[in-house]
Amino acid sequence: MPEYTLSKSTYIRGLQCYKSLYLNKFRPYLRDKLSEEQLAKFARGHVVGKIAQQLFPGGIALSRPGKPTAEKTSHLISEGFPVIYEACFISDDVIVALDILVKHEDGYNAYEVKSSLALSNVYYNDACLQYHVINASGLKPEKFFLVHRNAEIELSESEDLHQMFIFTDVTTECEANELMVQDGISQMLEVLKRDKSPDIFPGKHCMHPYPCDFRGVCWKKISKAEQEVLLEK
Ligand code: SF4
Repeated sequence: MPEYTLSKSTYIRGLQCYKSLYLNKFRPYLRDKLSEEQLAKFARGHVVGKIAQQLFPGGIALSRPGKPTAEKTSHLISEGFPVIYEACFISDDVIVALDILVKHEDGYNAYEVKSSLALSNVYYNDACLQYHVINASGLKPEKFFLVHRNAEIELSESEDLHQMFIFTDVTTECEANELMVQDGISQMLEVLKRDKSPDIFPGKHCMHPYPCDFRGVCWKKISKAEQEVLLEK
């Protein structure tokens, strides 16, 4: 038995569509292939994440999110370790791996790095979930920051690293949405207990915030003309 059911990515998937959440868990082989553009985006995110770690140098990097990594994270925190990359937490049947956890005088601050040039609702939802899971696992972050690229400054070794990123304190939003996150998790866990996928008809939600990778299945029998109508609704 796995020690958790949901992750950050499956929670975000579930916010978009319960059917996508269900299919991803029980019929992952039906997913559409990742496009070159999506693969490049993932690679870019990885590179930016690595660069951003140097905003708080000297940390210990954890890998492979899972119960042993969550236990290691907990141990490092109890020892007062100052900087942890990919700190892992599990609670409420959800696992998250936070990009950077940094000790300050009053406790730990959390930093989630995004390679984008602007923040979107998805990133706020991501932060709210992580804040909730970290808090429920026993460590209340003093502050939670979303960190994204500064559009006006190129990523380069010659630039001041701190000028390349913009920090947004989203702690207030995270605290305000705790109950909503808890409710969302409960509903998703219920969906995953069903014996068949939720009956959800395709529509505009299939494209927002991300183009769903089950469109190959769900949209297969819908004509081009009907698809255009559905996307306009
Ligand atoms: S294609 Fe649309 S309806 Fe089908 S799983 Fe994805 S979001 Fe849901």
